[in-house]
Amino acid sequence: MNPITAPNGTVLVINAGSSSIKYQLVDPVGGEAIASGIVERIGQDVGIVTHKYAGSEARLDQPVADHSVGLRLVLDLFAKHGPDLDAAHIVAVGHRVVQGGAVFSGPVVVTDEVVEQIRALVPLAPLHNPGHVAGLEVARELLPDVPHVVVFDTAFFQTLPKAAYTYAIPPAVAEANQIRRYGFHGTSHEFVSKAAAEFVGRPLEDLRQIVLHLGNGASVSAVRGGRAVDTSMGLTPLEGLVMGTRSGDIDPAVIFHLHREGKMSIDEIDTLLNKQSGMLGLTGESDFRAIHDLVAEGDASAVLGLEVYAHRLKKYVGAYLAVLGGADVITFTAGIGENDDVVRWQALAGLEELGIELDADLNAGRIKQPKVISTPSSRVTVLVVPTNEELAIARQAVELAG
Ligand code: ADP
Repeated sequence: MNPITAPNGTVLVINAGSSSIKYQLVDPVGGEAIASGIVERIGQDVGIVTHKYAGSEARLDQPVADHSVGLRLVLDLFAKHGPDLDAAHIVAVGHRVVQGGAVFSGPVVVTDEVVEQIRALVPLAPLHNPGHVAGLEVARELLPDVPHVVVFDTAFFQTLPKAAYTYAIPPAVAEANQIRRYGFHGTSHEFVSKAAAEFVGRPLEDLRQIVLHLGNGASVSAVRGGRAVDTSMGLTPLEGLVMGTRSGDIDPAVIFHLHREGKMSIDEIDTLLNKQSGMLGLTGESDFRAIHDLVAEGDASAVLGLEVYAHRLKKYVGAYLAVLGGADVITFTAGIGENDDVVRWQALAGLEELGIELDADLNAGRIKQPKVISTPSSRVTVLVVPTNEELAIARQAVELAG
């Protein structure tokens, strides 16, 4: 086994979903992902565990009854295929939790009370928080000697002004049901807005930024002086941009219409808008690589899908330019933002009047390091900055765990 070169120790970052556990062993100082893997299909007939370390991959195909079995298998894989976790000197375990409600505005060290608070937020995140709680409980049991820290996707957006997070419905109804804009992908928006400021060499406090996190899920944020002032996702991650399988913004009356006239149940509509819409619904594919292949074959629905996607993105850029009174930096990140030059171009083309001028050559291709893609004369600096949510979680975990 290769020796680990992380003199200050490592952080095990865990992202436990309802039927999966993703993990990464991170060097929080150097930023390297030393090992990573995923347990999939927990609770199904056959589960899959994939573990990557030092350029090789180990795979198990066997039933994984629950999160406890899953995490035990992961620890076995570390023991068998490396790296040796004793030698890795884990200083903290960092857990990603999607919904922290209005309770958590930053990362916290896990206690029994914190677990109960996350459990109490299950009604707000029924797809996510139950898996997080299961993962937290098992990880604390199996790794009892290190501090566990939870980092919330919503925390960065707890600074939104009331006008930005309030929906125009009667306040009594909103309060009784905890309905407000929470925002998601906060770890990425925070990490990328800080990295963008560092990259352009200006104080975070001075910058008005728009961050475009375009992964399978996608969201935009407006960040003033390092604090989020608006974001496109809302009560749930369904609102906002067109996504891989989510519709994003839609007239809420579509839901009543589908229920009353289309005879669809609420659960069917939930599935339709979350899992069968967005790019998948429009083009038959959710992955942009496949969508570009369709476009190359002359597929009209794929062409339209890309246009709908870019149109929505452009609308949000315009809205957040207005919210911020102009922007200094606009940054693309995540799978599509980092890799898809066509989407970047379509989203920001024709905005010269607003101070945004992309450089076609600088924009071309996949971008793996922070890079300016606007022209020198562009008033707004446009960047691509790769996100790294695991590293952001690892660093917050170390900071909090001391
Ligand atoms: P998430 O973390 O939300 O699952 P990612 O940020 O990893 O998503 O982004 C995944 C998406 O990135 C894929 O679904 C695909 O649409 C897009 N993507 C990845 N590589 C490329 C590429 N080379 N060109 C265009 N799009 C890409």
